[in-house]
Amino acid sequence: MKIYDTIVIGAGAAGMMAAISAARNEKSVLLLEKLPKVGAKLKATGGGRCNLTNTLSNDEFISSFGKDGRFMTPALEAMDYKKLQEFFADIGVETHAPDGFHIFPVGHSSSTIISALTSEMERLGVEVLCSQRVERLEYNETEVKGVTSKSDTFYSNHVILSTGGMGYPMLGAEGDGYSIAEGVGHTTSLIFPAMMPLITRETWVANCRADTIAKAHIRVDMKKYKKLYSIGDLIFTKRGIRGPVVLDFSREITPILDKLDEVHVLINMTKGMNEEDIRQHIKTELKKDPHRTTLQLLSTLLPEPISIELCLLSGVNHTLGFNKISGFSRDRLIKLLAWTPLTIIGHDGFDMAMITRGGIKLNEIDSHTLESKKLKGLYLCGEVVDIDGPCGGYNLQWAFASGYLAGMASTLVY
Ligand SMILES: Cc1cc2nc3c(=O)[nH]c(=O)nc-3n(C[C@H](O)[C@H](O)[C@H](O)COP(=O)(O)OP(=O)(O)OC[C@H]3O[C@@H](n4cnc5c(N)ncnc54)[C@H](O)[C@@H]3O)c2cc1C
Repeated sequence: MKIYDTIVIGAGAAGMMAAISAARNEKSVLLLEKLPKVGAKLKATGGGRCNLTNTLSNDEFISSFGKDGRFMTPALEAMDYKKLQEFFADIGVETHAPDGFHIFPVGHSSSTIISALTSEMERLGVEVLCSQRVERLEYNETEVKGVTSKSDTFYSNHVILSTGGMGYPMLGAEGDGYSIAEGVGHTTSLIFPAMMPLITRETWVANCRADTIAKAHIRVDMKKYKKLYSIGDLIFTKRGIRGPVVLDFSREITPILDKLDEVHVLINMTKGMNEEDIRQHIKTELKKDPHRTTLQLLSTLLPEPISIELCLLSGVNHTLGFNKISGFSRDRLIKLLAWTPLTIIGHDGFDMAMITRGGIKLNEIDSHTLESKKLKGLYLCGEVVDIDGPCGGYNLQWAFASGYLAGMASTLVY
């Protein structure tokens, strides 16, 4: 019976990094993956370009995660974005930040990241077994003893759980980690799908499909949630809204939707112009050509399909000259241009969720080692724990940093 120094469950970003960091300490490592291949989700990241991390300092990075961000401090100290870039350079992948913030592999291909991690695991002698779905942990009264998959039991006194969350289940993560950890006394916080398109009650959005609005502002129009505000590119879909601004915003919206059936939001599609700015803009445009129709005028601010819909909503005939419409209708149109109301009534669930909100509770994990406080020798890292960040390399940075720390910590005590 072979006893490994460390067993890692799940070959995603966190698991592969954990396997490498443990193996670099000359330990025998077994990596078990449920799917036939490693890194399925990693391959899909950043639209195949893999936004690995970003250039925020650790303090800025931590504060982007809200109140639980501090938990990440030891992991980020072990591997911040600069060390992550060095790590990849050492294994043959140069990285860069074309916009000064988002960091990608220079070739802009996630496959290069997966090949480099795979080659490094091979070089270090990590044993990788695919198509092995782990079902439970083996343990005695004091510590972990190994893991059991559908077909086998594997033994080790150090097991790293890096099975991811529940988003995009076809890419492997289906929430197995929660039940595996719960089996040894852990608890999972409420789980919500996050970072995905949102469905609106308003059907007019379908007529504006494929129009991208740069720097749209979106905020919740409900007393208790007034602070929720986001800025970024927005795209209309057949059933609602998507795009970077919606991805981040949906992290906040899904827990509210779970309690209430609808969430009222307001969007500004005029790059943050207020009613007064819009009036001034229209005045200036009218000076250039007083005979322009309302639609022609609005099209200096917005794509034409959206201009038509906003005219319809405010009861304005868009073929008329702006000065021909009543003062009341004009005011209503300007109000709508400043803040257009939408009602969020749903989302596409975990199938389209890039991130899972919630996970194994942080107060049950030692942040310095990522070792479980419930079972000695068990470590938890990556998306399976109750940490989720915004869009822009935050979640992969956490997965890599926590995997690195868990792998290292698992090799320290023998
Ligand atoms: C489409 C998409 C694009 C994204 N783009 C970005 C991006 O550009 N930048 C960014 O920072 N984040 C991005 N994310 C989020 C990021 O991919 C995740 O946060 C990150 O991959 C989590 O890493 P992980 O290793 O914890 O989990 P995962 O990558 O999900 O890996 C978990 C692994 O465990 C395996 N597994 C699960 N259960 C078992 C079991 N019982 N036994 C054995 N193996 C098991 C799974 O098959 C999987 O391979 C994106 C997510 C999606 C879905």
